[in-house]
Amino acid sequence: MRDFRQQFPFFASQAPSIYFDNAATTQKPQCVIDAIEHANIHQSANVHRSSYQLAASVTDAYESARDDVAQLINAPNTKQVFWSKGATESLNLLAHGLGELCRIEHALWQGDEIIILTSEHHANILPWQQLVSRLSPMKKLRVTPVSPDSKGNFDYTQLRDAISERTAIVAIAHVSNALGCIHPIAQITQWAHRHNALCIVDGTQAVAHIQVDVQALQCDAYVGSSHKMFGPTGVGFGYATHAILDALPPYQVGGEMIEYVSFDEVRYQSYPLKFEAGTPNISGVIGMGAAARFIKQQQTTIQSIEDELLEYLTQQLQSLPVITILGDNHNERVSLCSLLIAGVSHYDILRLLDDQHIAVRVGHHCAMPLMQHLHIDGTLRVSLCAYNTRAEIDVFMTSLHQAIMTLTASSEPAGINRISPQSRLHSDSDSHSQSESHVQTTLPLAQAFLGLTDYSASFRQIMLSAKECPILQETMRTPQYHVAGCEVDVWLANQNGQFAAFTTSKIIKGLLAILLEKANQLPVEERRQFDFAQYLATLGISHHLSQSRVDGLTVVIEQLSV
Ligand code: PLP
Repeated sequence: MRDFRQQFPFFASQAPSIYFDNAATTQKPQCVIDAIEHANIHQSANVHRSSYQLAASVTDAYESARDDVAQLINAPNTKQVFWSKGATESLNLLAHGLGELCRIEHALWQGDEIIILTSEHHANILPWQQLVSRLSPMKKLRVTPVSPDSKGNFDYTQLRDAISERTAIVAIAHVSNALGCIHPIAQITQWAHRHNALCIVDGTQAVAHIQVDVQALQCDAYVGSSHKMFGPTGVGFGYATHAILDALPPYQVGGEMIEYVSFDEVRYQSYPLKFEAGTPNISGVIGMGAAARFIKQQQTTIQSIEDELLEYLTQQLQSLPVITILGDNHNERVSLCSLLIAGVSHYDILRLLDDQHIAVRVGHHCAMPLMQHLHIDGTLRVSLCAYNTRAEIDVFMTSLHQAIMTLTASSEPAGINRISPQSRLHSDSDSHSQSESHVQTTLPLAQAFLGLTDYSASFRQIMLSAKECPILQETMRTPQYHVAGCEVDVWLANQNGQFAAFTTSKIIKGLLAILLEKANQLPVEERRQFDFAQYLATLGISHHLSQSRVDGLTVVIEQLSV
């Protein structure tokens, strides 16, 4: 385990001490970093254009990366692998091209329905939705989702029964980024093929964690992203059957994908080059090739470490009764747990873990329809990789436990600067410093921050302020009053001249309370001119704002200034 981790310089650097957000992006091993650096220093020429030695050797390196990726996924032929900017672009390319085949009533397209799972990443929902609306009203197509139960577990017989003669495409993730379950693709492909439907697989979350064999899966197309498989960002791949690659029109047109161009006639190259218009991300492709070789060499190690980590993490999480692990009935899972934690805002947990330099992800994970189906606003996702350790899980569990205790503690921890009725009456003359005199200290919430220099004291004060936030009534928590840009749901509205807000996050509620206290006290004209961001800075609480909180609160502030 240590040997595996030691190949990743990230862990020896100043990085956050615990990185559990591997489903968002993985770290790079030294061999990938070296390959990219070597390409940038020694392989700097364009590919497929010139025949001088340097350009030819770069083209060789670039094309051998295609061999590496083809071997990793066991593609029958290297030509069946095309490059893209990532899984998103590969899925868009496929959906766009297949839409064109539908338009011309090509034999590959039979039926009028695209079946997906409710849990798909937006990258495997939106291209199909767009296809349907682009071809409407000429073609009456539809996207049909198949959903898991309320705990995120799938009954695949529902998917089997949903596939029919009407099904043109089944587009499905190999591994769900929101639930961590591994879908039985080989089985699903058989069901699809029984009805002449195509099976397109989003392998983004699979490639780094489980063995992928597109021939065994029998799928019609498979896509992935380099940065989720130890490679660089901005590059990815797609695989498809010869029949699809031959039939699909180019996605973009331009240099290098043509055989002949005149003003009367254009002939395109064969695949894969017909899908690779323009100068590609050469060093990125070479880096992805190195990543593919790395995974192939380390596959057994990766799987055995991750299986053990998943078992250990699951056991530990199950010891906390407030935690539900979504989709945990699935036998086949990668080392990813999507959690619901009763009684606390996931966002607040994330902030407290972040204070301990533990990186996890909260929110909808680009799977909003799943969250809507489960009637939740998101989950806390812990996604591990083979370079993580049991010791890290132990630290995480202790911090998680502490965070839950902090957020659910009914009595205040000692040392809290409570907002007393007396402090509400304090005036400007109580100010302690020059900068503090900018603040209207007749306002009790603001007053309570003056003189607080200790980070945890001001954090606790924010939590206390949450209790004072004017609460927006439930009937007004509608899309109209929803604040865009926050990592957590926030609603804000002006009710009879006074602002009120609602969010489940105590931290955001506390910050809102402080802003609304000021906004509601100012005459309209003054409020429009007032610098709320400076106000928070003067109170010394800007350091409690993460970038995303700043973004969300910037929108709140804009709305207060209207
Ligand atoms: N599909 C899945 C399952 C994902 O998890 C992601 C990214 O999180 C994507 C597609 C999109 O990948 P990218 O942003 O690299 O194109």
